[in-house]
Amino acid sequence: MMRLKTLGARLVIATIVPLLLVTAMLYPIFRTHLEARLDSSRHGATTLLNAEYDALLHDMNESFNQVLAVAELPILRRHLRNVREGVALKDREDTLEQLAAMLETLVTHFGRYTRLVLIDTTGEELLEAGSRLLPYPTGTRYAQTGVFRGTKRLPPRGLYISAPRLGESRREGKTVTTAVIDIATPVFGQNGQRLGMLLFTLDWHYLTASLPHAIDSGEGVRAVMVDDQGKWLLPNTEEGLRFGDSLADRYPKVWHDLSSQLQGEILLDDDLLLFRTQDIRTAAESNKAGTIVTPPASQPWQLGIVVPRPSLAGLLAESPWQIAVLGLIYLLSVIVGVLWVLSLHRQRYLRRQAMEFSREAQHLSRESQQYAGEVQDLYENAPCGYHSLDSDGRIVKINRTELEWLGYRVDEVIDKWHYRDFVTPDTRAAFDDAFRGVLSAGQEGGAECVLMCRDGTRLPVVIQATAQVIEGCFQYSRATVFDLSERKQLEARLAEQAMVDPLTGLWNRRYLKGQAAKEMARACRRGTSLSLIVIDLDHFKRINDTHGHDVGDLVLQSFADTARTQLREGDILCRMGGEEFIVLLPDTAPEQAMQVAERLRLAVSATPVEIETDVVATVRLAYTASLGVARVAPDEASLEPAIKRADEGLYAAKNAGRNCVHWYAG
Ligand code: GH3
Ligand code: MG
Ligand code: MG
Repeated sequence: MMRLKTLGARLVIATIVPLLLVTAMLYPIFRTHLEARLDSSRHGATTLLNAEYDALLHDMNESFNQVLAVAELPILRRHLRNVREGVALKDREDTLEQLAAMLETLVTHFGRYTRLVLIDTTGEELLEAGSRLLPYPTGTRYAQTGVFRGTKRLPPRGLYISAPRLGESRREGKTVTTAVIDIATPVFGQNGQRLGMLLFTLDWHYLTASLPHAIDSGEGVRAVMVDDQGKWLLPNTEEGLRFGDSLADRYPKVWHDLSSQLQGEILLDDDLLLFRTQDIRTAAESNKAGTIVTPPASQPWQLGIVVPRPSLAGLLAESPWQIAVLGLIYLLSVIVGVLWVLSLHRQRYLRRQAMEFSREAQHLSRESQQYAGEVQDLYENAPCGYHSLDSDGRIVKINRTELEWLGYRVDEVIDKWHYRDFVTPDTRAAFDDAFRGVLSAGQEGGAECVLMCRDGTRLPVVIQATAQVIEGCFQYSRATVFDLSERKQLEARLAEQAMVDPLTGLWNRRYLKGQAAKEMARACRRGTSLSLIVIDLDHFKRINDTHGHDVGDLVLQSFADTARTQLREGDILCRMGGEEFIVLLPDTAPEQAMQVAERLRLAVSATPVEIETDVVATVRLAYTASLGVARVAPDEASLEPAIKRADEGLYAAKNAGRNCVHWYAG
């Protein structure tokens, strides 16, 4: 869950970061592109603005020059002089008609003029061409108008230019209300006498409409023109600006920027506005006017061009394939980012897994090392011997236990000893048999052998071996060796125990039987005498009855101790049962046997048994024995006849009153 959350966060970053990077990379490119476009737009707008400026100036100057030229026409002067001098109408009708026709031609020829008026020095209209041509006087008076007042004191070649204003104009034979501008100039006679003034009214929109700014070009190019007060001087716009509206009120910020400098550019939200100042009072080098006067606050004009400001959206919208390429770049960057993150995630996952595997492997390796160590330890220190032999019987591997048994170091043994050399010669055949069994098809063998140790001791062992075979080829034999010494000792002890009387520690009847055959054979072989003494304790029943069975046992043990001291090594003293004993005396003649018996009898009678009773602390209990002696004849097959004869002697001794020795010759 945690990993999924981390992956999710990484994927979000992998999406955002490429987007930011691509944007950061593309931004300067687009910015440069936009700047270039802006420069291009600026250049185009500047060109257009200058063209407009020049066109307007040209038209204005042309009008100025025409006004001035007309004002200097002799026929015009003559007409004014005739009027001034009161010449009768019929006498000056030709002049008037010529003048009227000329002015009419002017109005008709130049569409920009809506009215041409001739005014006398008192402000009375003398003649009007264009809208109507009336006979003198027309009755219209100009004395109170700004045009008249602005013009009446002007010197020759002086011009009065009104502010554009709403007025009437003829278009296609109809009179329409439109923006007009008045141009007036005084008319002087030859002698410098002021004769009147000439007033030309121009269709202002006609003038501005002919400018090359292409208001309705459809490319978003628009013209801007305001007077010194910010009054809109162009026809009504789509934005709702009407002729005469105050730009300062509608767009104070624009107006502020516009009015604070003579020329420059203003960056609008979506547009670029380039402007320059046009003052017809000073920018009149190319006209013939001497002085140009305008009403207060009507000049200068600010003439401007608004072109669409290049934008990123516009740039992209120009070519859909750019959007597609851009989208593709973003998509690719995001895909790369996501793939990168997924790849990193995968790598991390694999690394983590590898580490886990490595940890596990280390753990397993440690475990297996530990296991191998344990196995090695078990092998080396097992309670049994282990060894491996090659096919020649040479030792290739042997454990510490067996080495310790043998008393050798490992380097003294490996590849140096044949195992059979450790086996005693008398058990070597068994070993060889077993080893052959291992090499044979049976591939196993076992033998009881005795090993010869370095210190000379012999070690009885049992060897169990099997062959290690790989792909049918014998590699080595592997044997387990058990130490049999304890078992042998136990067996010997058990065997001995089976031959020994537990109460007295003397040999028993079975032992005697076994030894008798050997001794009889030996005596026969060597030609020596073999004698026998039968011993029976006297009145033993009475001892038991008087002192108890335990005391009887003590007496039996005491007898055994006493008798042992009287016998030599090689004599075989046995308890035959109850209080009856037999001594087999190898290499002993009957006389000697009698002596031994007598010696025994004396020792017994002289060695009382010390017993403790409830009444007295220690009581010395004396006892005696009767003995019968016989010779084992060399031709006898068993001991029995001799025992019988001795029993006869014993019987005689008993009868003789006990505590004596009797020989029975048979
Ligand atoms: P005698 O002088 O004629 O030989 O007399 P006796 O009492 O020795 O005669 P007998 O042979 O009949 O008695 C043997 C007794 O020995 C009988 C039995 O109770 C006793 N006896 C046999 N074996 C043991 C033994 O292991 N311990 C003890 N305390 N008494 C035994
Ligand atoms: Mg007896
Ligand atoms: Mg007895």
